Amino acid sequence: MHQLTASALAEKLLAGDVTSVEATQASLDRIDAVDGAVHAFLHVDAEGALAAAADVDARRAAGENLPTLAGVPVAVKDVLTTVGQPTTCGSRMLQGWVPPYDATVVARLRAAGLPILGKTNMDEFAMGSSTEHSAYGATRNPWDTGRVPGGSGGGSAAAVSALAAPLAVGTDTGGSIRQPGAMTGTVGVKPTYGGVSRYGLVAMASSLDQAGPVARSVLDAALLHEVIAGHDPRDSTSLTAPVPPVVEAARRGDVEGLRIGIVRELGGEGFQPGVRQRFDEAVELLTGAGAEVVEVSCPSFVHGIAAYYLVMPSEVSSNLAKFDAMRYGLRVAPEGVQAPSAEEVMAASRDAGFGDEVKRRIILGTYALSSGYYDAYYGSAQKVRTLIARDFAAAFEQVDVLVSPTAPTTAWPLGEKLDDPLAMYLADVATIPANLAGVPGLSLPAGLADGLPVGFQVLAPALADDRLYTVGAALERLLEERWGGPFAALAPDLQEVTA
Ligand code: GLN
Repeated sequence: MHQLTASALAEKLLAGDVTSVEATQASLDRIDAVDGAVHAFLHVDAEGALAAAADVDARRAAGENLPTLAGVPVAVKDVLTTVGQPTTCGSRMLQGWVPPYDATVVARLRAAGLPILGKTNMDEFAMGSSTEHSAYGATRNPWDTGRVPGGSGGGSAAAVSALAAPLAVGTDTGGSIRQPGAMTGTVGVKPTYGGVSRYGLVAMASSLDQAGPVARSVLDAALLHEVIAGHDPRDSTSLTAPVPPVVEAARRGDVEGLRIGIVRELGGEGFQPGVRQRFDEAVELLTGAGAEVVEVSCPSFVHGIAAYYLVMPSEVSSNLAKFDAMRYGLRVAPEGVQAPSAEEVMAASRDAGFGDEVKRRIILGTYALSSGYYDAYYGSAQKVRTLIARDFAAAFEQVDVLVSPTAPTTAWPLGEKLDDPLAMYLADVATIPANLAGVPGLSLPAGLADGLPVGFQVLAPALADDRLYTVGAALERLLEERWGGPFAALAPDLQEVTA
């Protein structure tokens, strides 16, 4: 049962072929079997998930009309607050912290009847591209447990890829849903900024953060997108526009007559030949299906990483100031100080509670925002951000969607980039522009290079998230015809990952 896609499972639940308790137990059993090797989860809530499942089963038995995904279990990145389960953000700073409120995303999952299996591992406060910056140990890529699953949402991606959860929620500030999606062969979507509430999403960089679905099919991602999206009065940046018709688009999946632009700047030098090859083949399939493909140029995208690594740390330095050891979270007494001042306690706690990458970004951001440097760094980065948004706007006058490889390489060996922050940052070269401009993006598996998953990225104008699914579903169908089955079937070994 753990192999079923969410939509297939939902059909079986509706038909009464299986119960949610059985499906949830199947996921919990799978977690038991594989998570020793994969370490996708920081916390598993078997009791809570089974209770939610039993409730759905009882309501269904009573003849209640339930939402489509009711009874389908889901895993949640540990950066979204959850009543009754810890929320650590992969940091020692929040070890054991149980929030007093649910994130809106989590509240919507509960309201739609999705049992929450647990909280997934992540780079500390979502800062990283490999999930190795978690204070609780790295997550491993189910395709090769000697390799990283991408990051920061490696836990959510690995959980879905390892068949330990049919669905998961991730968050994407610079690529943390899409890039791990590419590395683990899962479908990941960053919705339009403001499309999904950030209430209860522990902020990394507020102007970039966005939660979204992680799944094993484009339709599954759309179904989950529909559950978590929509206006929330508790988030001042939440959009009031209606949720785009993503499920309808995923069911239709047709590219006939659609104009598709290949972004010249996202694919040349530095992209692994095997990644390039799978990308080109996917584009050929789309052309064969009647899409009109052209190359477009977005010249400012080459400055995306530089702008991101000023805007993001600036917001990080401000957002993480709240971890002051006074109200909640870790509190450490400075060593050898008799009656420490509040400031000394703060300093000792932040020193002990934050890892190196988080400290690096706080320092970088504090510097970029300091008087005298503000205009030169933060101000310039904001201007580049505007230029990137203009590049998108100009491109979307010519084409309906843009496409690129999701990441320049396949998953790398654990430890390879840990001492080289710049190399790590470059893993997001293709995903960051969308966050800077607020536009939506989807990654879906496009095949294997040297036995490892390759991601194909689709980008659409703000509020046109449905186009991601139109193209994603069409390409998924074409690829499956070529493979003779779903992507997971390319990895017979995937079934064998055990603790
Ligand atoms: N890898 C990027 C970073 O380290 C993006 C992280 C994210 O999207 N949360 O900032």
